Amino acid sequence: MTVRVRFAPSPTGHLHVGGARTAIFNWLFARRHGGAFIIRIENTDTERSTAESEEMVLGDLRWLGLQWDEGPDVGGIHGPYRQSERFDLYGRVALELIDRGHAYPCFCDEETLDRKRREAEASSSPPQYDLTCWRLPIDERKRRIDEAETPYVVRFHVPKQADAAFEADVTIEDLIRGAVTWRKESLGDFIILRSDGRPTYNFSVVVDDHMMEISHVIRAEEHLTNTHRQVLLYRAMGWNEPQFAHVSLILGEDRSKLSKRHGATSISQFAEAGHLPDAMLNYLTLLGWSPPDGHEVFTRAEAVAHFSLERVNPAPAAFDERKLRWMSGQYLRRLEPGTLRRQLYRSFEQAGWVVGGGPDAERWLDAAVEMVQSSAELTTEILPALRFLFEFDPVAVVGDPESGSVLRDPGNRTVLDALLRELESGGGPRDADQVHALAKRLEAATGRKGKALFMPMRLAVTGTLHGPELARVLPLLETGSELRGLAPIDAPAARVRRVLAALG
Ligand code: GLU
Repeated sequence: MTVRVRFAPSPTGHLHVGGARTAIFNWLFARRHGGAFIIRIENTDTERSTAESEEMVLGDLRWLGLQWDEGPDVGGIHGPYRQSERFDLYGRVALELIDRGHAYPCFCDEETLDRKRREAEASSSPPQYDLTCWRLPIDERKRRIDEAETPYVVRFHVPKQADAAFEADVTIEDLIRGAVTWRKESLGDFIILRSDGRPTYNFSVVVDDHMMEISHVIRAEEHLTNTHRQVLLYRAMGWNEPQFAHVSLILGEDRSKLSKRHGATSISQFAEAGHLPDAMLNYLTLLGWSPPDGHEVFTRAEAVAHFSLERVNPAPAAFDERKLRWMSGQYLRRLEPGTLRRQLYRSFEQAGWVVGGGPDAERWLDAAVEMVQSSAELTTEILPALRFLFEFDPVAVVGDPESGSVLRDPGNRTVLDALLRELESGGGPRDADQVHALAKRLEAATGRKGKALFMPMRLAVTGTLHGPELARVLPLLETGSELRGLAPIDAPAARVRRVLAALG
């Protein structure tokens, strides 16, 4: 069988993690089986659907690195891929269902339906449509349609007696959840076309999945309760049903359904926060699926090679933002510094750090990025971590109560004096070996070592008590101070001198 799967977003907002995970599972399944991955835009809700949202959703899918074989932007043999452009198809199928005796025009107005629904509720009978229009004689139906007296909807008739096409109940073999059965009595006749000609979800989804030759419907669990209506429609048309796979909910840490009140939930928010697409894809894939070898960090190719619906867990998955951050850190660490530098270059320019640029400046920036990359989890942490290289305010450092008292300590002061003498006489260190040699000489000169030596040094050259290794910081400051293409950087000697001046 040719595998054809689809992701069918309703463009009414951003792409959320749940939708993204559904899209990823569809994509993995298609790639695993050499099939087609299709995007279909379900925009029949004309009030809530927007073209901007469609663009955003497609943009988020592209950001995740998913590519589709057919869709509204790339076309394909089963287009159009926006439901709003397929209304004539739905109309044609609705007519066919009427001809086959499976659907009928319903002229009941909202008010009457509401009243009957309330009455049914009051008498605790099921609030199903009472079949008034199903019972209309054919010529009466025709007359009302021809005279265009009242607007009408089209309803699908759920047969109550077992007949050949409709065995008693509806059972599907869900590829994730196993057999799921619905009793047909639980269903009333449902609307497939609204009075303005728009299809309802259950109808358009069946027409499209059939016409687009979808082999597997992999979607969110919330649509499981729609599936029996859809199966009845397939049977009424004599169409083959696709295989269904309903992916479980994603929960927040409090085990309730993930929603905005849990914090960020849309892909664009995570992108802005500085998560890498590969990390996001890896993390979302783990929400419900686990690879056979148990390794949690895997490449796309590995996920494609091993993906199977049998390993998708029917139990809900909990979204854990800390774990996502950890995953992002794993990927950030593995990124080439040059790649990261290129991604962040605009923000370096905007910060005013790059002036002119050039190959030397880029090499220097690569080294700077590499220095902080291993302790960051998000790309947005890189720029703040490098700020001290470009922005140094000795007055503020001395004025800070904690830093100020460290710098005023007489023992620490000795270190600063000795450090300045060393830097002025021998020049600043240009690599890690020279930093180690400098530290040895300072140890000998001051009798201090370890933290007692490095803390005042660090504070005087970086302005902070914590940060990357001095063996990397000092050479960067020294070489950066000589570079054109970057904003002016104070060499270590200049920094220590300015701190001492600020101390008075
Ligand atoms: N448009 C539906 C949604 O966004 C998807 C329906 C389906 O996959 O069958 O939830």
